[in-house]
Amino acid sequence: MKIEKTVATLVTRWRDRLGISPRWAFHICLYASKKDTPKSKRHLAAWIVNDSAYLRSWLHINLWQEEAKRDLESLITHELIHTRLDRIDIALRESLGKKFEGLYNEMMESLTEDLERAFEATRKKVSRKPRKV
Ligand SMILES: [Zn+2]
Repeated sequence: MKIEKTVATLVTRWRDRLGISPRWAFHICLYASKKDTPKSKRHLAAWIVNDSAYLRSWLHINLWQEEAKRDLESLITHELIHTRLDRIDIALRESLGKKFEGLYNEMMESLTEDLERAFEATRKKVSRKPRKV
């Protein structure tokens, strides 16, 4: 199938660009329609479950979501940035504890989105307007 091949190509490309080990295995789960997607994940365009100890991840993509149709590469870049940051994420999450969980999640997601956009801008060779603070 064409879409499976496209996703696999993009995962390999961004795995290499982000410096993730070639031994890292990515299991890819694609959902073609809303009814195929687990109910608790229907609000997402994609999500990733990382298992750093065994160098493996499960990448899930809701192909029917607008974001996936618009820019699949950025979506995959975003999820693989989460993989690249996984060990840092685990260490910080454990040391910060529950008290800062909300703030920490917000900071990690914001960093991931900023990196995703920077890569997108580089890829598309467009300038990015600075974010209003
Ligand atoms: Zn994210």
